[in-house]
Formats: sequence, C-alpha cells, structure tokens
Amino acid sequence: MNIDLVQVRDDIRTRKTTARATVDQTLARIARSNSQLNAYHEVFDDQARADADRIDLEIAAGKSVGVLAGVPIAIKDNIVTRIGHTTCSSRILENYRSPFDATVINRLTQAGAIIVGKTNLDEFAMGSSCEKCAWGVVRNPWDINRVPGGSSGGSAVAVAANLCAAALGSDTGGSIRQPAALCGVVGFKPTYGRISRYGLVAFGSSLDQIGPITHSVRDAALLYQCMAGDDPHDSTCAPRAVEDVVTTLEETPRAFRVGLPVQYRKGNSPSVDAAVARAVEFFKAMGATIVDIDLPLTDVGISTYYVIAPAEASSNLARFDGIRYGHRTKSTAAKDLFDLYAQSRAEGFGPEVQRRIMLGTYVLSAGYYDAYYRRALQIRRLIKQEFDTAFAKCDVILGPTSPTAAFSIGGMTDPLAMYMCDVYTVNTNIAGICGISLPAGFDETSQKPLPVGIQLQAQAFAEPMLLKVARAYERVQGGREYPTA
Ligand code: GLN
Repeated sequence: MNIDLVQVRDDIRTRKTTARATVDQTLARIARSNSQLNAYHEVFDDQARADADRIDLEIAAGKSVGVLAGVPIAIKDNIVTRIGHTTCSSRILENYRSPFDATVINRLTQAGAIIVGKTNLDEFAMGSSCEKCAWGVVRNPWDINRVPGGSSGGSAVAVAANLCAAALGSDTGGSIRQPAALCGVVGFKPTYGRISRYGLVAFGSSLDQIGPITHSVRDAALLYQCMAGDDPHDSTCAPRAVEDVVTTLEETPRAFRVGLPVQYRKGNSPSVDAAVARAVEFFKAMGATIVDIDLPLTDVGISTYYVIAPAEASSNLARFDGIRYGHRTKSTAAKDLFDLYAQSRAEGFGPEVQRRIMLGTYVLSAGYYDAYYRRALQIRRLIKQEFDTAFAKCDVILGPTSPTAAFSIGGMTDPLAMYMCDVYTVNTNIAGICGISLPAGFDETSQKPLPVGIQLQAQAFAEPMLLKVARAYERVQGGREYPTA
C-alpha cells in the first residue's frame, strides 16, 4: 500500500501509531532500497528519530501539534537546509553546508513535518533523467533499468517507493511534473511567485518554483497550503492571501471547460495518447465541456526556454567560483585569480552545466543579445498571450505531461532529444501559470509496466480550481500498484 500522508498524520494524532514508528519504518525502507534506487544523497536518521520522539511526547501531553506533525518528508537537494549538506548534486558544492533554512523548510517544520533526507537531482536541476547527477544515476522503481525523469527524480522515486510520505521538488521547465509522471505519482507546480524561492538554489530565477511531489492530490494540496504565501525574503513572492484549498478540495468542481490543444497530439507514444483520451471521457462523463484550443507556440517553447533558462543560469551560477562558494582547485598551477576560477569551475561543474553556462553566456553577449535573448523575451510575451486567449475558452488545459513513459538509462544520448521531453511542460513556466501531473495508467508495451501521466494546466493563481478538478479525476482513477522496490 502506498503511504497516504493525511492518513498517517491522522493516525499519529489519534495515537493509532506514533511518529517514531512511522519514521522507523521509513528509515528501514530507505536502508533496504536506497543503495539500489539512489533516491537519497543523505539521510538524517538520528535527527528524524529525535524529532519524531519530540512530537510523540507533545501529542501524549495533549499539546496541539501542526497539520504535518510526524510526517516524514524528503527534500530535493537544491533547497537549503541547516541540517546536512546542500549539494545540488554537484561536485562544486560537495561539502557545502547552508547557514540557514529555506522558507519552505521553516514552514514545513513549523507544521511538524520531519525532514528525513535530501534527494538526488540532475546537477543544478538541469536535466530530465537524473543521469546527470554527480552522485550516480537515480533509478525508476517500476523498472530499475529506466530513468525516473528529472530533475527532481530523487524526490519522485522517494515518494513512489514509499521512502517518505511526500517530497519537495523544484520546477523550472518541468522538473516536478515530468519525474512525477514517469514514476506514477502526483507532481504539482504552483503559479510563479506562489511559494517562496528563498533558499532554493537559483537556476532560472524567473521560472523556478518549488512544489510538492506526493501520492495524492489531497496530500499535494495540504503541502501546498502549508508552503504558499508571501515572504519578505523573496521579492518575487506574490503578496496575496492563500485560499483554503484543503477544505474545498472535495467539492465537485462547478461546470467547467476542458481545453484540448491540437498541438499536444503529435509524437506521443500510444499509451500516453490513450491516457489523455481516457481522461477526456472521464471529464465528459462528469459533465465538463470539452473544447479544442490552439497553442501554436507549443513547439517554440523549447527554443525559448533554452535561451532564457541558460541565460539566467549563467548569471546565477557565477557565484560558484571557488572563492565565494564552492570547490576550489587544489592545483598549484593556477597563474592568477581568473585561472583559479576557471580551473575550479572546470573541475566542479559537470558537462551539462558547463554547456548551459556557455549557451547562456553566449546569448547574453554583446552582438547576440538582441538576436537571442531579447527575441526569446518577446516570444515569452506571445506565449503568455496565447495562454490568455486559450483560458478565455477553457478553465483547464488537458494533455500529456511527457510524450513517452520512462526511457532506458543511457538510452537518450542526444541532448536535444532530451530537451524535447519537456515540450509540454516548459511553457507553463514561461507563462508563469500552474500545472499538475497526475498518474494516468500504464504503458504495457515494455517488459515491465511503466507509469504514464496526464497534465492539467490552469491560469495563474487558479490553484483552488485546478486542485479540485485534479482531485475529481483522482477519485475515479483509483488505486495504483505499489512498486516492488
Ligand atoms: N529538463 C529541463 C531542463 O533541463 C527542466 C529542468 C527543471 O525544471 N529544473 O532545464
């Protein structure tokens, strides 16, 4: 049986079980399967047990505890925590310890959550497969010869294999939703600015957003509600009240319109198209209106994203130079300061991160700025407008999360082919809207059944409606198998 966060939380609170027993079970599962799956880079056994004991004492003493009291949660290792290290799965931050906790960490721990460990990612969140992780590849629990997706692959695997009750990921172009789809779990990317980025190591600052990866929409809504809302430490965080999405979640969504973009129908594997078709039938049966919509800039999203995200990354990653932050070369051959920077960075960053830094530096350089970066910003505006037009005709946009189920480890060597995995997810970030990936059945054509996901996207700050629609779908979608990890 999959862990149900809300159920675990209630059982701890009503003393059907204890936080300690829950944490012990989770740690035992991690001890059994993490060496194979490599979901976690670091696990905080002692601290997690101590936190659990403290919560059990509080409950036994009749004190009021937070809404996540005793629940074991995994954190993507690009979100800073005072406990342990924050490495971004990069050699350049191998021994880095943060002097502060990210806002989301404070909010979760104040609600009583127990941080069990830090999960692996593609280095600095750049990738779609978790093969670009300095601490080894992460494996998909449904078939260990397949990738889990990325970049939040460690978090998605930790949830799928029940090595935590829920996890946090970050999503710059699909990094929560795509691994969630490939691992058969829920991945929710809220609207840009809805959750503080303070303490999220920046990749593309205008695109990055933290969000939950969970077994259910109900769990995702609860975590989202705990984390969302303004933060004085993040000036891009939206200063608007957070609606109570948890109590309204079970309401049947009022008459709503589901938009199907014609551009989301080509090049998908048949299992993915079939999952979308089933969802269409479900929403029709619920009484929703199905409308065709047009998003002609879907394909252009990838090229736009691969200008804007690397441009921002090249600037954000400049601080990792061996002096201010990060690995410093041991070589005595460095001729001067510049050489020291160059050698430290060449040793510390992996090839994909170096490729992005070079790409980003290039598109921002004099002479190319107008041709690439400015142009990409102009297209960004058009992509936003395209969504606005679409949302005049529909409330949610339905489509695949990823064109295919999980591919084989080592099976995708062309970086451009890898970039195309994000064709349905990058525009959500470019437009700053919200999106959620939901488990939607299996691809049965390979040796082992592989999960496929569907995605629902909605307008900025339409999370309450999006979650309600997602929950309605989840209720009929029903139980999923438990991976034998
Ligand atoms: N796969 C995309 C990339 O490599 C998205 C990554 C992300 O969302 N962090 O940039």
